[in-house]
Amino acid sequence: MTTTIKIPAAITRAAEGGAVSAVAEKKNEMPGITKPSRVNELRINEIFFSLQGESSRVGLPTVFVRLTGCPLRCGYCDTAYAFHEGKTRPIDEVLAEVATHGTRYVCVTGGEPLAQKNCLVLLTRLCDAGYSVSLETSGAIDIADVDDRVSRIMDIKTPGSLEVKKNRWENLALLTAHDEIKFVITSDADYCWARQLMRDKNLTTICPVLFSPSFAEISPAQLAEWVLRDKLEVRMQVQLHKVIWGETRGV
Ligand code: SF4
Repeated sequence: MTTTIKIPAAITRAAEGGAVSAVAEKKNEMPGITKPSRVNELRINEIFFSLQGESSRVGLPTVFVRLTGCPLRCGYCDTAYAFHEGKTRPIDEVLAEVATHGTRYVCVTGGEPLAQKNCLVLLTRLCDAGYSVSLETSGAIDIADVDDRVSRIMDIKTPGSLEVKKNRWENLALLTAHDEIKFVITSDADYCWARQLMRDKNLTTICPVLFSPSFAEISPAQLAEWVLRDKLEVRMQVQLHKVIWGETRGV
């Protein structure tokens, strides 16, 4: 059977440099926000087309928009190049480049995308243009003003990440069933910590929960063994793009 993905008409208009529907920029007071030089700009690290490597959208052809900057320094970070590298670009230009890929799935990632206040504008404009949008966020910054149409893939940082103190626990109350919570597990101790937190806060009643092995620290087989032993109601995942292409940038 052939599956046809319907590309929204607004995508074509954006590709032609036309106006996408008007957006009301939301006000936001978030700590650690990078003040944009101009209201319609973002600092972009890279835009690329690949398979989604994580979350329930795994395997879907997706356009990734990686924003520059992150206030965290996780020990396992594999995108440190996004801390500073990037080019300031108009949001119209970002929309136009996304449209050239002709797919409906867009993932806004980082770094920590919400570290730039104008990320909220980009997310709303992508939704207005008809894309199915996901946001990968560290869980350290307020997600309250993210457009409701966006699927938020939110980390909870474990002790092994070295950034557990940055978790913004108030975010948990803002998540809905179309969001996802992700733990990157670095050790047995991390696994036990995450398992206990899941139980204490009933995380699986909020939204799907993802467990990922930290790429260089524990094996997928080890994590799978623990999850099966405890019959945890989580989705164990590996980073599909690394399985296919290894630790390569832009995939
Ligand atoms: S939040 Fe993400 S981008 Fe930032 S340091 Fe941690 S792993 Fe890297």
